[in-house]
Amino acid sequence: MIRFVDLNAQYHTIQDEIQAALHDVLSSGQFVLGTAVEAFERDFAAYCHTAFAVGVNSGTSALHLALLAAGVGPGDEVITVPFTFVATVAAIEYAGATPVLVDIDPRTCCMDAAQLEAAITPRTKAVIPVHLYGQPADMRPILEIARHHNLIVIEDAAQAHGAIYHGQRVGSLGDLACFSFYPAKNLGAYGEAGAVVTSNAEYARTLRMLRDWGQEGKHQHVLKGFNYRMSALQGAILGVKLRHLEGWVAARRAHAQHYQSLLADTGLQLPTPPDDTQHAYHLYVMRTPDRDRLRAALAAQDIPTGIHYPYAIHQLPAYHTLGYADGTFPHAEHAAREVLSLPMYAELPPEHIDQIAHVLKSLAQ
Ligand SMILES: *Cc1c(COP(=O)(O)O)cnc(C)c1O
Repeated sequence: MIRFVDLNAQYHTIQDEIQAALHDVLSSGQFVLGTAVEAFERDFAAYCHTAFAVGVNSGTSALHLALLAAGVGPGDEVITVPFTFVATVAAIEYAGATPVLVDIDPRTCCMDAAQLEAAITPRTKAVIPVHLYGQPADMRPILEIARHHNLIVIEDAAQAHGAIYHGQRVGSLGDLACFSFYPAKNLGAYGEAGAVVTSNAEYARTLRMLRDWGQEGKHQHVLKGFNYRMSALQGAILGVKLRHLEGWVAARRAHAQHYQSLLADTGLQLPTPPDDTQHAYHLYVMRTPDRDRLRAALAAQDIPTGIHYPYAIHQLPAYHTLGYADGTFPHAEHAAREVLSLPMYAELPPEHIDQIAHVLKSLAQ
């Protein structure tokens, strides 16, 4: 049976390591933060080539706290994209700021740097490029414009663990970067978790306080904070899984290559990572104007697919309040009508890709 993602398949390969790590936490009696989380933070910062990682309870909390640590608050504007998971935009409003959207580059489905400058106002404080699907956003021009206007850059790397841009890991490109460890992400916990990485010691210090009720030391609440702490069990699980991440990302890239070689001449629009970027393939997303017919025909042959995402943020009822009419972001809206995610996970059997490609070829003729 072909599955869109199979988290059990991965668990079976690391079961013994995971159970040993869980046993250590359960016997330690330290269930929130503590040594397992600290060890993971050290290893994850090293993986991202940053000085610090701060573990929190979700990717959404990571975005919220990164914005607060950057000093974003009411009256500020934060620029991001309309084609992302809803959490990116939600976090900006959690911080009390106003989301300002700019359209995507249709080739990458990430922020179009050429549209950034025109969206900047005297109130703009930060920019959140999203490395959507695991494809790094075009960070060089984004960073250049942000430096010129004194804006803080926060990467939304929730889908991009292991992606590389011009030889540098995502997470180390902006001032701060946010990761999600939601179970299905490239590096997934067995529950909710997230992290902010940064090389700025002051941001790291503020993040550590904000996630734990604003405490500088026990009972020393110097900031108004949150209960956004990472669970020790998740920290221990992530510590084990991080050791396997490079292999898993390599497997995802090999699967993408396999899809590419089988589907190259079908007329379907496949991912084309720009030169000098290494996609991490959290999702393998193709595009076709015939999306809904193809999706139904694949489903009829028991091939599951996904749509990430069927609506741009400004088209969602909850975000009509942003005040952007339909048609404002043509590339995002077009992508929302055309994108189709094919099965992708590290343990995906190559024979499944053969079968999927065989069916797709017959449908695309
Ligand atoms: C998953 C995701 C988030 C939110 O992470 P959670 O851990 O689910 O809170 C934020 N941004 C993007 C792009 C995501 O894919």
